[in-house]
Amino acid sequence: METAVIKHVRASVVRGGGADYHDQGEGHWIDDNISTPMSKYPAYRKSRQSFGINVLGTVVVEIDTDGGHYGFAVTTGGEPAAFIIERHLARFLEGRKVTDIELMWDQMYNGTLYYGRRGIVLNAISGVDLALWDLLGQVRQEPVHAMIGGAVRDEIRFYATGARPDLAKEMGFIGGKMALRHGPAQGAEGVRAELQRLEQMRNAVGEDFWLMFDCWMSLDVNYATKLAVAAHEFGLKWIEEALPPDDYWGYAELKKNVPRGMLVTTGEHEATRWGFRLLMEMDCCDLIQPDVGWCGGLTELLKISVPCGCARKARSAAWIKCLQLPLRLHTPEQPICRIPDDGAGSRQGGSDVHTDARRRAGAGWRSVEGFGAG
Ligand SMILES: [Mg+2]
Repeated sequence: METAVIKHVRASVVRGGGADYHDQGEGHWIDDNISTPMSKYPAYRKSRQSFGINVLGTVVVEIDTDGGHYGFAVTTGGEPAAFIIERHLARFLEGRKVTDIELMWDQMYNGTLYYGRRGIVLNAISGVDLALWDLLGQVRQEPVHAMIGGAVRDEIRFYATGARPDLAKEMGFIGGKMALRHGPAQGAEGVRAELQRLEQMRNAVGEDFWLMFDCWMSLDVNYATKLAVAAHEFGLKWIEEALPPDDYWGYAELKKNVPRGMLVTTGEHEATRWGFRLLMEMDCCDLIQPDVGWCGGLTELLKISVPCGCARKARSAAWIKCLQLPLRLHTPEQPICRIPDDGAGSRQGGSDVHTDARRRAGAGWRSVEGFGAG
């Protein structure tokens, strides 16, 4: 069988949702007084868009072959990522066999090492890598989960992120994760306000439904410890990304401080096998949450997941779109997934897989068939 050869790599930018799910209109819960590392500045406290959370936008990666096959993926990165993809990364793909995924990843990573390693460059590499897997699935006419070992389950449990866990319960989710609204700048009053909200939700959902706080890198060890200890009474299942991602030492301390049974989770803004190795070796958390669109793509996520499996760390898909469902189907240990939710229900996407990439990028799309051939 002749192997398909990559002809073109293209990158473009779309606005409003898509991979950049913070890029929402006014009044959306995702931008309503959420605790952030910028909350210490009153001028940037009310809205994350005020400090530029949506400034990048979604980058769409499209790859085609000499035989007319087409792969597609999205991530966050906007024009800077599009520039890196077309002007720098494309050279490592064009003219290459679609099966050379490891080689292409290695050249993209090492070829950008002098200015990359994480952040926007890894977002760009992730987007290209995901489009390559999608392309390979098209060429082989197989879903991606089949190419990485096959499904080990028929169903996946989901929790929902949003402001209304009570509505998530009505919709059949197993848990609800709320964005924290108060941080160290609001002191003890902030802790009280969060506990009140948590108690209200606990009363609404009953004792077995999962409730979690996503702190979006905004706390310090002392505040996070106080919050975790007090929230234990209301059955908080985990405290997510409580500290800045570079504070491995703080995470190690927090993990020792939280009440028994409560999980410390992080990794959404971590990248590569080396970053996650640090999290594991320093015993920073109970559950890692790599974002497949940011951590290095599926090729790197597979490398990240192996030592986690050995260390018995649970893994959570921090960014569920079409891309992670196949991996969740494939991963044997404790799958915990979320769908970004608008509070009253996730937007429903379609399954028209191989047409109009730009429209799909903005559609909140989450079909299993979307990654590789369905
Ligand atoms: Mg998070």
